[in-house]
Amino acid sequence: MDLGAVRGNVALLRERAAGAEVMAMVKAEAYGHGLVPVARAALAGGATWLGVARVAEALALRSAGVTGVPVLVGLSVPGEPYAEAVAADVDLVVGAAWMLDELAAAAPRAGRPARVHLKADTGMTRGGTGPDGWPALVDAVLAAEAAGTVEVVGVMSHFACADEPGHPSIARQLTAFTDMAGHAEKAAGRRLVRHLANSAATLTLPEARFDVVRPGIAIYGLSPIPERGGFGLRPAMTLTADAALVKRVPAGSGVSYGHTFVTERETTLAVVPAGYGDGVPRHGSNLLEVLAAGRRRRIAGRVCMDQFVIDLGDDVLEAGDEVVLFGPGDRGEPTAQDWADALGTISYEIVTRVGFRVPRVYVGGTDG
Ligand SMILES: *Cc1c(COP(=O)(O)O)cnc(C)c1O
Repeated sequence: MDLGAVRGNVALLRERAAGAEVMAMVKAEAYGHGLVPVARAALAGGATWLGVARVAEALALRSAGVTGVPVLVGLSVPGEPYAEAVAADVDLVVGAAWMLDELAAAAPRAGRPARVHLKADTGMTRGGTGPDGWPALVDAVLAAEAAGTVEVVGVMSHFACADEPGHPSIARQLTAFTDMAGHAEKAAGRRLVRHLANSAATLTLPEARFDVVRPGIAIYGLSPIPERGGFGLRPAMTLTADAALVKRVPAGSGVSYGHTFVTERETTLAVVPAGYGDGVPRHGSNLLEVLAAGRRRRIAGRVCMDQFVIDLGDDVLEAGDEVVLFGPGDRGEPTAQDWADALGTISYEIVTRVGFRVPRVYVGGTDG
């Protein structure tokens, strides 16, 4: 994990945000890169907020000593340790009445009001409250604020199609957000922290930046809109494995489960110790490429739980030699985007599913 790349990407996003603050989205172990080291690097790069999905992630940041910076939990789920979260100065989202009830109940136990962000459903149709229920939610939250159980900090929403520039829903969501945030601010009698933009919007929609932008994937150097190029970002993750075994086999050898790959001639195979238990998708059997002995090689046969095989032909590789599964692409290795394209998914899924059996090694300065 290249933390220098993380810092550089955050600095670039900060520049693109043109005055808006950056909330670095570090949910799901920082998209598989490692929560705490990435959070620290993002702060060093100029982020002034952190965003996660679950309370446990926010508490993990606080326990690791990441304090003095707001941390927002984006996904409220019933029964989370809200009193602990409020006591740890974690910001929480209110997108429905039950969330307000739980937070209002948690606040006295925490000994302080819960810092909350109102979540508007402006057209994603996932979390939050839509325009019909909005005035009632705003009233309820302001009543709780008057009672001292919550402090309203911000108002937020999330784009459904920001990665498809020109999609008609984008303008509709922007209008709805402006209306709903305006309503909440009028009712509150003050400005609130407005935030809407994910990576794609941060990079392509100046009118969506508001007070804070919330980039995730771009922090990790992967493009939110691959058709539009890399936006000058640098991928932070390189996934490698050292060959476990190299051996010569005759023509006609069936390789791995199901013998879906059969050698056409005598050849050299290498066993690479990374499998679907480590996040190498089994759908990548006979499909994904890796860099070994200076060239791209396709995975030969099925990806197993702990390992897969590659066919080296007559090239030389020894046990212990490095195989690069994906990375920034500098050395000719595939990128996470290449893997995503081959598999029909998005780069987010490739990096996030790298399993925690895989040790994370941090380069580029661990303290930012
Ligand atoms: C994950 C997430 C983001 C970041 O999205 P990217 O497409 O990775 O930039 C922003 N906001 C919310 C609420 C999210 O959950």
